[in-house]
Amino acid sequence: MGPEDSFIIWHPELIRWANLPDSLEDALQSWLTPSGWRVGPPRIITWGPEGAFFAMSEYGNVVYRLGDDDAWEIYKETIEEWKAEKGFLWSELAFITLDPTMSDQFIAIRNDGTWAGSIDDINEDALETFALNFFARAKAKHKAKPSTSGHIPDGVPTPTDTKPDAATQALYEKWSLETATMFANASAAIGGTKPKTPRKLQVRSQSSASSSGPSQSQSQSPRPPTTRSSSASAKLLTAFPYLPATITTCALPSCTILKSDADGIHACQHDVEKLLRASGLYSYEWLRQERLRWHPDRFGRLCDEAWREAGKKMAGEMFKLIHGLMEELKHAESTV
Ligand SMILES: [Zn+2]
Repeated sequence: MGPEDSFIIWHPELIRWANLPDSLEDALQSWLTPSGWRVGPPRIITWGPEGAFFAMSEYGNVVYRLGDDDAWEIYKETIEEWKAEKGFLWSELAFITLDPTMSDQFIAIRNDGTWAGSIDDINEDALETFALNFFARAKAKHKAKPSTSGHIPDGVPTPTDTKPDAATQALYEKWSLETATMFANASAAIGGTKPKTPRKLQVRSQSSASSSGPSQSQSQSPRPPTTRSSSASAKLLTAFPYLPATITTCALPSCTILKSDADGIHACQHDVEKLLRASGLYSYEWLRQERLRWHPDRFGRLCDEAWREAGKKMAGEMFKLIHGLMEELKHAESTV
């Protein structure tokens, strides 16, 4: 079901719909012939505001529309990047759903465990848990195929590096927990909701990182105490979660100059890479999810008015550095 009382319902002998976006309706009509479904009956149909939709038939025929006026920017980027991947087939898509009421909120999961999604900060926890657990529940139905894109087929995105050293990993976990707590408190402050447990960053302990099996991929790391009854911890951002000083040690001349900017984030791409690799989860998709949080507009919403402009600028720097790391990883993967 979707906007403006739109709906669709189907059954082997019957299909009914109403108020669907025009181009989705056209696509469905083109699948239907007097003798039945030309490309098989619909398997996945999902749509949202601004004309965005995604439809796949049982035989893998795919029709989609990315929405008007960049309203579905992240959805568009995801679909275009996946399509551009060498050897990508739509049959690898296991699940996709678009938010019927809000633009650019969606989740898409592939059989190889790669997933992408975009959702309000408040619900990020739920989204992430859902994505990580999808295969634990769906495994029997969706048999993962041998991967062609560098992901292990057990449903967990593969970190592309080796085990980080323990000290750096501890720094990462401390930083990511503090950052997540700051974000969560700021979300609570703008949303008027009670403080919640911060977003989990797919943190895995070292022992479970080396074992397989999606059921073990959940974080067991301790969470900070949340005071659900008080609003004391709901607080907008007034400072940047700087990287630990022991990480930001890159001494390349150009980086040193960059980092000397008093209004900057005092970290270069190499520093950010070192920290993020210590997550043990470093991969293109993981970076993409990490990058989302630093989008200046999204970050800006969480900032205290007085600090907003400065905060957006700093988040923008972080966003760009992570973007650079994604590009680097993409080039590295395409040359091996
Ligand atoms: Zn550097």
